[in-house]
Amino acid sequence: MSLHRRQVLGSAAAAVLATAGAAARSPDYGALAHAIDGRVVLPVDREYAEARQLFQPRYDAVAPGAVAYPAHAADVAVCLDFARRSAAAVVPRGGGHGYAGWSTCAGGLVVDTGAMAEVSVEGDGVRIGAGARLADVHATLAGRGRSVPTGLCPSVGIAGLTLGGGLGPASRAYGTTADQLSSARVVTPDGRIREVSADRDPELFWALRGGGGGNFGVVTEFRFRTHPVGDCAFAELHWPGGDSADVLRGWQRWLAGLPDPFWSQVEFTVEADSGSGSRSGAGSGSRSGAGSESGPGSGAGAGAEAGATAPPAVRVVCLDGRGELERQLTRLSDLVGGPPRDSWIAVRSHADTVRALSGCLELSPAQCRLPGALPGRDPQGRLGRHSYAARSDFWAGEGLPDAAIGAVLDALRRYGSGVPRAASGWCSSTESAAAR
Ligand SMILES: Cc1cc2nc3c(=O)[nH]c(=O)nc-3n(C[C@H](O)[C@H](O)[C@H](O)COP(=O)(O)OP(=O)(O)OC[C@H]3O[C@@H](n4cnc5c(N)ncnc54)[C@H](O)[C@@H]3O)c2cc1C
Repeated sequence: MSLHRRQVLGSAAAAVLATAGAAARSPDYGALAHAIDGRVVLPVDREYAEARQLFQPRYDAVAPGAVAYPAHAADVAVCLDFARRSAAAVVPRGGGHGYAGWSTCAGGLVVDTGAMAEVSVEGDGVRIGAGARLADVHATLAGRGRSVPTGLCPSVGIAGLTLGGGLGPASRAYGTTADQLSSARVVTPDGRIREVSADRDPELFWALRGGGGGNFGVVTEFRFRTHPVGDCAFAELHWPGGDSADVLRGWQRWLAGLPDPFWSQVEFTVEADSGSGSRSGAGSGSRSGAGSESGPGSGAGAGAEAGATAPPAVRVVCLDGRGELERQLTRLSDLVGGPPRDSWIAVRSHADTVRALSGCLELSPAQCRLPGALPGRDPQGRLGRHSYAARSDFWAGEGLPDAAIGAVLDALRRYGSGVPRAASGWCSSTESAAAR
């Protein structure tokens, strides 16, 4: 354990402060490397090029002073103590998928929780280390008949997802990931290791569930309630590009009357001028409406023209099996104004449905990771990194009015004229092929 190491570190950091002042010298990250049971990767190390990376290549130029991989909560306390004493900026990192790049910082200390990734089932609950990726969570829960509502991207971290809320296919039925959190272990900046729940430190527990990403401390472990799962039915439906506006309008009305055990997404495939396809504009159903991740558009009424270049695919997951799914698909076709050009349905276990939607059905757990040697990755990993932008909105009632639908489709058309070839905006870009 690290008690004596903390004392060593305390002396080292105090020496720095005494001789030169914290602001005048760069932090002695080498001292930190000797002070924790886990690893610290420094810019001179071979693994640094991998350690500095987030999921999004757009942040590759950001060069942290060091990346620590604590082995346990006491190591995290040492890291925070080091950062305080040496006036170093410090940020926690889970899966590194945050859109805004907040899990890295130039010259500062990244505390990567990847080495604390154990997932263990405890009765009807599950204990999950903060470094676990969503694929780890689902791999452990597979076959147990239970799950936690999460998103689908297998390399997203449970930490950032939970601390920011967390939406996925089971969220209309069971709420956000954060809703299912029963307790968390968090190291606060004063170095205290706290177990927080509705009964213990309830205000911190409340704040973590939605506002916890990097704001109040470093979470090292989560405990969740789980929900029962059975076989899931998945459908994918394609309409021609000329029907895009009708699909978006009908799909939103359909969502408003959809039972809770459903999730759905409409995705428009933008054909770039070159003729190569690229993805954009995915929206996911939510309890009160639907979200579109396309950028804002102008030009109301441009939908028909834009729609001609953006064929829509609707994906639907039903947690209640095939019969209810087929009933709801008939209602969807009625609201769109006609049946899809083609469609297919697959019924699988919950675990296989998640793996199919994640693009990992044909991959082993080791392959369903980013490639690499550091915690959270695997040398056999086959997943790729992507630059990714998204925005979400919630709305109630019948969904977007026609002018807004036209604006969305117009934005897709404009995006299509400038999109690089083969760009992909969705983590599970192989999901359609893999899910068949
Ligand atoms: C391809 C892709 C697909 C996505 N799909 C979904 C989806 O289906 N549903 C959904 O809800 N979201 C989705 N997201 C959004 C994702 O959930 C958030 O970006 C989330 O914050 C990522 O978590 P992370 O741990 O991977 O990210 P990180 O970048 O590591 O962390 C995000 C934030 O949380 C902080 N943080 C990380 N770990 C800790 C910790 N242990 N303690 C305290 N703070 C910490 C970081 O400092 C940062 O501010 C997706 C994102 C991408 C890029």
